[in-house]
Amino acid sequence: MSRTLIAGNWKMNGLRESLSQVEAVAAAVGGGEASVTALLCLPATLVALGRAAAADSALRIGGETCHPNAKGAHTGDISAEMLADAGASHVIVGHSERRADHGETDSVVAAQASAALRAGLVPIICVGESLAEREAGQTLARVESQLAGSIPDGVGAGDFAIAYEPIWAIGTGKVANTDQIAEVHGAIRAWLAGRFDASGAETPILYGGSMNPANAAEILAVPNVNGGLIGGASLKADDFLSIYRAAI
Ligand code: PEP
Repeated sequence: MSRTLIAGNWKMNGLRESLSQVEAVAAAVGGGEASVTALLCLPATLVALGRAAAADSALRIGGETCHPNAKGAHTGDISAEMLADAGASHVIVGHSERRADHGETDSVVAAQASAALRAGLVPIICVGESLAEREAGQTLARVESQLAGSIPDGVGAGDFAIAYEPIWAIGTGKVANTDQIAEVHGAIRAWLAGRFDASGAETPILYGGSMNPANAAEILAVPNVNGGLIGGASLKADDFLSIYRAAI
């Protein structure tokens, strides 16, 4: 799998009729080795159907969260093993919407990432500051403390991806500027080098926050940006594919 990853996050959007968008992305991505990995993280109801829609394509399908446990009395939750069984290859953990809506702390996110690895999935671990934290000059401290708390022990640098998603840029149309992205991605890369030595260069660091076909090329050219995590613009195959092509 390529280190460059263009990942969609459909959030709580999508019915079976939306599988036509998955089919369109799969057809455009095609089979065989690609220089960029394309991934659509779908609501749990669509993971197995999405996998079937992407059959014979290099397009990967992922989940949007997972429970730390493999099974048990956790009504409404989904385990990493269930996602893997449905055909997922990746799972997003620690998205700011999960942290806010479900009180998921760094230690929960680390347990979810461990669960993903246990099930053979690649966790995409999300970090990012609020607007208040940015305005208070706490961005790097916040991101570094999330990295320290959310990346599980015993993991290899190439086994997971990080998504830097400034909360104030998610779904707002406000995009971090290239200086802001470069600063935080550089700090994340330095933090990874401190934790993993030279292999810290292997971890893909994705940017997320109002990425779209018009701004993707500029963002993807920023040093230490190895792809994107895309919400709204991943719902339409044409928009997602424009971003994917900007990464190639
Ligand atoms: C996201 O959901 O992770 C995200 C970045 O959303 P959007 O692209 O809509 O800002």
